[in-house]
Amino acid sequence: MGYNIAIDGPAGAGKSTVAKRVAQKKGFIYVDTGAMYRGLAIHFLKNGIHPEDREGIIRACQDADVSIGYEDGVQQIYLNGENVTGKLREEAVGDMASKSSPIPEVREKLLMLQRSLAREKDVVMDGRDIGTNILPDANVKVYLTASVETRAKRRYDELAAKGISCDMEQIAADIQERDYRDMTRDNAPLKKAEDAVLVDSSAMSIEEVTEAILELCE
Ligand code: C5P
Repeated sequence: MGYNIAIDGPAGAGKSTVAKRVAQKKGFIYVDTGAMYRGLAIHFLKNGIHPEDREGIIRACQDADVSIGYEDGVQQIYLNGENVTGKLREEAVGDMASKSSPIPEVREKLLMLQRSLAREKDVVMDGRDIGTNILPDANVKVYLTASVETRAKRRYDELAAKGISCDMEQIAADIQERDYRDMTRDNAPLKKAEDAVLVDSSAMSIEEVTEAILELCE
């Protein structure tokens, strides 16, 4: 078993930014499990499946193979052998990932891949159910959150920096809708593991959050 750091929390809490930094400092591998759900989502979209078509999604799981690799230390997602990393952040992909992730067959598809990575390597793994379900024995568990306003503002700034115009209220509404879906699903819902340390990043810098997590590893 590798040394495992699990970071869970809602969208926009800063998980991936911080997890990457912690991984770099520790010399560990960063595993972004949301990207795996997004990889599967690309498969469903490619097959013309509607996000609400549960049966279609379950059927399409049978011929989807998601795997991960690293190029210059950066995680790459392969869908049936094709590198789809460049498409993962598209809005339609995020929407499909959020709507398909409650389906047990979808989660089952990725569970073994996530567990086997953590068994073989020292990892910082982020997602929604890592501390509660995927790696219940992780050495360090963090539940990283921030207020909806903070998370919406971060997303707004991120899009604005890319020259994409957007509406702050709409972003906040989308975030709340995704949180609700993640937190209320029957299968591996997003919640703080009992033994996870709660970190609210609303008033913290990236460096402060990174430092707080590194301290937990000592
Ligand atoms: O974190 P990210 O936004 O990339 O995740 C995409 C979607 O995948 C989330 O909206 C969530 O529903 C789902 N997810 C999940 N469990 C994880 C990671 C992500 O259900 N461990």
